[in-house]
Amino acid sequence: MFTTNPFDSSADDGDKLREECGVFGIWGADTAAAVTALGLHALQHRGQEAAGITSYDGAGFHSHRAMGHVADAFNKDSVIRALAGRAAIGHVRYSTTGETALRNVQPLFAELSSGGFAVAHNGNISNAMRVRRELNARGSIFQSTSDTEVIIHLVATSTYRGLLDRLIDALKQVEGAYSLVCLTDEGLIACRDPLGIRPLVMGRLGDAYIFASETVALDVVGATYLRTVEPGELVIASEDGVRSLRPFQAQIARPCIFEHVYFSRPDSIVDGSSVYTVRKAIGAELARENPVEADYVVPVPDSGVPAAIGYAQESGIPFELGIIRSHYVGRTFIQPSDQVRHLGVKLKHNANSALIRGKRLILVDDSIVRGTTSLKIVQMLREAGAREVHMRIASPPTMHSCFYGVDTPERKKLLAAQMNVAEMNQYIRADSLAFISIDGLYRALGESKRETAQPQYCDACFSGDYPTRLTDQDDVEQRGQLIPIERVA
Ligand code: SF4
Repeated sequence: MFTTNPFDSSADDGDKLREECGVFGIWGADTAAAVTALGLHALQHRGQEAAGITSYDGAGFHSHRAMGHVADAFNKDSVIRALAGRAAIGHVRYSTTGETALRNVQPLFAELSSGGFAVAHNGNISNAMRVRRELNARGSIFQSTSDTEVIIHLVATSTYRGLLDRLIDALKQVEGAYSLVCLTDEGLIACRDPLGIRPLVMGRLGDAYIFASETVALDVVGATYLRTVEPGELVIASEDGVRSLRPFQAQIARPCIFEHVYFSRPDSIVDGSSVYTVRKAIGAELARENPVEADYVVPVPDSGVPAAIGYAQESGIPFELGIIRSHYVGRTFIQPSDQVRHLGVKLKHNANSALIRGKRLILVDDSIVRGTTSLKIVQMLREAGAREVHMRIASPPTMHSCFYGVDTPERKKLLAAQMNVAEMNQYIRADSLAFISIDGLYRALGESKRETAQPQYCDACFSGDYPTRLTDQDDVEQRGQLIPIERVA
């Protein structure tokens, strides 16, 4: 219910793209479940609706899954003790595909002919509905509405013999984004889709191996960061040590660029780059591309803070906290109406009027999604006496939906899909509005520019250039109507 992470603004804002899930797995530690709970707590910003852990003790699998935050789901010794064993995987979830219900909370588990199989998934399978229909036609009965269950059924029905070969066979049939940690009685399997859309890293804690969505989860449990799990790589940790496989046709990776802009915690390393450093570099690019005279650079807390620091350092305009955020506000995203969202923004942000009265402000935020937050904050700063408010956005206009495991409003609710920049500026009632260019964003990531023929990242929510087929989406468009996944079952 309450957000205490000072960098976590995702938990209580209805006007953000929302990261979908975080995964964590450990093989070879006596306290596997407790370490997993701590790791999931560090990944809480990636999903606040539900959390779960499945452990394996050499004889059987144990699971605990619950709605709500990690600290609530795993706050009892008895729960952790019941998750016996030296191996565990865990998941935090924000609903992407499938309704929000306990049956969709991961890890998902199935007793297969080849042994127990638990899976925790970050990402979204973009042909899940098509595959599910085919599996249904062959007699598969689904327990959940989650796209992840498709992987379990493909593993179950594979004609290959060993579990690892069955998993590889299953993954070759799915499209989209997946960073997975899978627990079997023979080992822990971590893998990342061939484009590496969602992140996954590997670390070491004593003799144990750990896999996690972000390095911050390694830091928090005292583990050492070893490396990124490479796109298209499967890493298997077992009693025999660690081995790596690359069973997929090699492709040029296209990791999600928005992890750097917003989703990942600033104290994480994503694909070798410090998120904090990249966000400051984005702010510096933004200042070079879109300068304006002002008295202060003010971040929208907390998501705009690193980019605002970069903007201030590059422009020489002082960085000031012109907006103070309460960290004790309940999550507004569970309240659906736009009217209540507006109220929520007022509850959690307050203008520092003594500082900003009569001043010209550069207001920095990471993105504009619906525009409701920007509108409210600009209005709040004006009411507190700001003379000018110039909004600067640390990402290009968000014009397209994400089909890779990020919760995006329907396209018609994305402000940038409906208006040009001048119209958006009018809508949010700022004195000026500017976004970083897509090449500027790539420069902040150390590239000279976006390679149009072969982009270095997935940037589809800005460019509309999706790196995979969107089979389910194409099916929906061909039919001209959405078929709910429940009706497919
Ligand atoms: S569409 Fe956007 S949010 Fe989704 S994976 Fe691509 S860059 Fe990330």
